[in-house]
Amino acid sequence: MDISEAKQQIIRIGEKLGSKNMSPGTSGNISLRFGENILITGSGTCLYELSEDDIVLMDAEGNLIDGNRKPSSEKHLHTRIYQMRQDLNAIVHCHAPYVSTFAVCHKPLSRPIISENVFYFGEIPVAEYAMPSSNELVENTSKFFVKLDTVLMANHGIIVGGKNLKEAYYKTDTAEVYAQIYLQSLMLGSPVDLDRRHIEEIYELRKAAGK
Ligand code: 13P
Ligand code: ZN
Repeated sequence: MDISEAKQQIIRIGEKLGSKNMSPGTSGNISLRFGENILITGSGTCLYELSEDDIVLMDAEGNLIDGNRKPSSEKHLHTRIYQMRQDLNAIVHCHAPYVSTFAVCHKPLSRPIISENVFYFGEIPVAEYAMPSSNELVENTSKFFVKLDTVLMANHGIIVGGKNLKEAYYKTDTAEVYAQIYLQSLMLGSPVDLDRRHIEEIYELRKAAGK
């Protein structure tokens, strides 16, 4: 894949996030491993209106290699996750409204109410608040990536890793709908948890799928 194709993939994911209102204004950022280096959206770019010039190439430490913009202010969070997880090749960070509602309330998305989500995520914890783009935010958030790929960031949003961009986007979309359904179920009445036996069955499937 050449660099222009890789940038086009990022542009398409940005448009998808925008089409579902998951990336308001200039919030959020997207990155993709490109050989030894990383393509990442420029700081202050609108994810659903990206052009190739809005995406820059940086090295594994976050130093700019090519491009006319500053890399995303969250570049160190992205580089840390790539350093920790060789199996992840793409990262989406956004401020989608439903997951961000849970992030604002410091409520994890870990209740076993939808079998598909138990399978996909196991749990979605909330990383402790720290200033956007700070080293503290890198520490607070990246530690969950030892075991998990999807983490809420308190009073901020969500960050999701995938083996490719599509997978990172699908997980972001699935988490957002999970949060929407959970919130609606709380409004309607009392959501019913899956029972222990059914959860264990799903965990067996997760293990078999290498999750
Ligand atoms: P950037 O525009 O610098 O990527 O920042 C957006 C954001 O969501 C910060 O957390
Ligand atoms: Zn953010």
